[in-house]
Amino acid sequence: MGSRQVSQSWQGRRITVAGLGVSGISAARALAGLGAVVTVVDGGDSGTHRERAADLAEEGISVRLGDASTLPEGTDLVVTSPGWKPDSPLFAAAAEAGVDVVGDVEIAWRLRGIGESLRAAQSGKGGGGRREGAAPWLAITGTNGKTTTTQMLASILRAAGLRTAAVGNIGTPIIDVVLGEETYDVLAVELSSYQLHWAPSLRAHSAAVLNLAPDHLDWHGSMQAYAADKGRIYEGNTVACVYNVADPATEDLVREADVEEGCRAIGFTLGAPGPSQLGVVDGILVDRAFVANRQKNAQELAEVADVSPPAPHNIANALAAAALARAFGVEPKAVRDGLRAFTPDAHRIAHVEDIDAVAYVDDSKATNTHAAEASLAAYESIVWIAGGLAKGASFDELVRNAAERLRGVVLIGAERHLIAEALARHAPEVPVVDLDRTDTGAMSAAVREAAGLAKAGDTVLLAPACASMDMFTNYNKRGEAFAEAVRELAAERA
Ligand code: ADP
Repeated sequence: MGSRQVSQSWQGRRITVAGLGVSGISAARALAGLGAVVTVVDGGDSGTHRERAADLAEEGISVRLGDASTLPEGTDLVVTSPGWKPDSPLFAAAAEAGVDVVGDVEIAWRLRGIGESLRAAQSGKGGGGRREGAAPWLAITGTNGKTTTTQMLASILRAAGLRTAAVGNIGTPIIDVVLGEETYDVLAVELSSYQLHWAPSLRAHSAAVLNLAPDHLDWHGSMQAYAADKGRIYEGNTVACVYNVADPATEDLVREADVEEGCRAIGFTLGAPGPSQLGVVDGILVDRAFVANRQKNAQELAEVADVSPPAPHNIANALAAAALARAFGVEPKAVRDGLRAFTPDAHRIAHVEDIDAVAYVDDSKATNTHAAEASLAAYESIVWIAGGLAKGASFDELVRNAAERLRGVVLIGAERHLIAEALARHAPEVPVVDLDRTDTGAMSAAVREAAGLAKAGDTVLLAPACASMDMFTNYNKRGEAFAEAVRELAAERA
């Protein structure tokens, strides 16, 4: 369909947007701007909700507050926000009425040609010679590492001189990017399992599933349903489906996907790569997938030291980003330059200070056991600060795998007893300080206790393996509290 037809096809359509949050508001505005008749529904009815509703009302968008379960009369499409559960009553009502439910990513995908032609029309020029359908998407999902990998990929694409942005689950809502003023050659798109669930027609150029561990099972209903939603990212890929050699479940998803003729399965591994894989040989990231004669040849891309931080899981992220960039035709040198230019977001294995030859590292973003396990694997001798809200997780495997490297443990937060029990079972020799506190000031005490346990050469690592909301507004605040406590300690010891 041409983009004019696409844009006309929204005229007069009656669309219900579920959720008055950032993505819902962005969808509502975009669709109303294309002539759709939009109603936003939200179960909440707070002051903030009313303020937002009043703003939208001025733009001709209706908002219904306090009722999130009945479908407005005449709705012909529901656009949901990512957090809404598939079993929400509104969707049952939509199913009964034969009305489709899609998410913001699906809308962005369907609209992606329009921004281009709107800009062309405004500037009075043609489509600029670029094919309709606009920038292809390189898509990334996984239980952990999505944001980091997406940003690494964007950095590599930029280093290759391409106009790009990291979008999706990050930063500016994806619909705004697609309809916005900037023109892109390619987009690096982070997708959550929720977004994939609601994006049935998305067809990425190439895509990667970084890893699969149980998470958000309450939303998806089961591990199978969660994996199936992640696997949708490979549907219709044209060049490469990138999977994690160490996580066979990701390769299974590639096998199950219906891809375009000629699309290749490309593995990434921390070991030496086989043909059609990227991997590591003697501290060098190498490509044995996008090279001539891959049975014999390998192409050097970058050094492990070019990746920051050079922790094993992060090298894996870099390889996945490199694979997607190479699938898009990016030269090896740009992979290296892009990785060198990349700096991780705050609270992801961020080195705060060295005090008395002990490194203090903030990985507050390790909000589940899979992420914490990755960061614990990155250090030799650790004083581990952990605890918070466990979200139903079990800590046995994590503790068993980390036990040998634990100098000591400091526990904080509401469900710390679960970690204490796992430690008693699998690491009974390791000293544990159980801080019976959930107040915000507890972090300062935790850092002091950790300093007391640490010896020169150790790492004090905040990798809580838990959500933060029992003590902090979010993981950012938890990480900031840790960093502040460390700096205080540094000032005293200076
Ligand atoms: P996401 O966007 O998937 O939440 P982030 O890049 O923000 O991922 O990283 C989240 C947490 O997961 C970080 O604390 C980091 O230590 C951990 N992590 C990052 N990459 C990986 C990986 N490939 N495997 C396991 N854990 C990882």
